[in-house]
Amino acid sequence: MPADNLTDCRLDGALLKPGSDLRTAASQHPFGPTPNFIFSCHLLRFQYSIMTNSEIFQHAQSLSEQLSTAVQAASLAGKIIADGYDQTHAIDAKGVGDLVSEIDRRADRAMTDFLTAESDALIISEELNPEVDSVPDECWIVDPLDASSAFLMRAGKEYPSVLIAKREQGQTVCGVVHFPLTNEWFYAIAGQGAWKDGTALEVPTEEMALCEAWVEMNQYGDSSLETAAFSTMRQRLRSSDGARLVTSNVPHAGVAMRIAESNSALAAAVHDNRPDDIKQGPWDIAAPVLILTEAGGAAMTLEGESVDPFAGQPFVVSRSQSLAEAVLVCGCELRTAGRAV
Ligand SMILES: [Mg+2]
Repeated sequence: MPADNLTDCRLDGALLKPGSDLRTAASQHPFGPTPNFIFSCHLLRFQYSIMTNSEIFQHAQSLSEQLSTAVQAASLAGKIIADGYDQTHAIDAKGVGDLVSEIDRRADRAMTDFLTAESDALIISEELNPEVDSVPDECWIVDPLDASSAFLMRAGKEYPSVLIAKREQGQTVCGVVHFPLTNEWFYAIAGQGAWKDGTALEVPTEEMALCEAWVEMNQYGDSSLETAAFSTMRQRLRSSDGARLVTSNVPHAGVAMRIAESNSALAAAVHDNRPDDIKQGPWDIAAPVLILTEAGGAAMTLEGESVDPFAGQPFVVSRSQSLAEAVLVCGCELRTAGRAV
């Protein structure tokens, strides 16, 4: 749903138009700008972009040419996804609980064609070119529709996203996560920071203890593929020594963006993964990890090491390094020398 086409909405009795000034909206409130209204407006900023796509394009262009290319590519897939949301689709299954449709393939084709015209770099994409055995140092990594199962099951508009990252010399140099159904844009450039909808994205520096945290367990649809480490972590985190809340929602790589924006108590997520049957491909990992870490969050393997998008191993994303380590200490034994407890 492009921001330009967002319908008017009401909040605490005040009319909010797309892109409207919240102070103006507050003045329209029948009881004036009540504290509850102001708080709700604050939350609304996190739910609906107040920037148009053309403004996002301009901001990305001002930051880097590669980011601009990535944003434009993501917008093409986003339009296909948004236009297809209310349609009926033939559903294919890659595996148990792992659904896909023609929307995934059409979105991938649109992004691949655009990137081919704009760049000489190899394009690795989930649907059209998922081969990752021999990857050059420079490439694009594309997931044209993450959370396909959530999209097809209409589990919620906040889950489906378009992910794209650029790699150079084996490092992720920029990344974009676009939620087309809520028209949210998250993006980052390595070493320069992260943004959401044109505003710098920074994880709050206040520490959150594990006993206060909501931890999401991002699991396989097929239970036979679950790793022992992940199973053990889920058990231990759901104990009196664990997290305040542990859930397993619809699988979505964009969960790292919900942690980064810190709009709820969601503070960490554990992604199950295995090299012989990958759940989280490099297209799921590269962009979200860059954006989260550039915003001040953390991502680490169960050994406490940095996450390699191509390695196919379980990992934790979190608001902070210390909380990520607390998740690991609770859920498994940190095996890295110097970090073991
Ligand atoms: Mg996908």
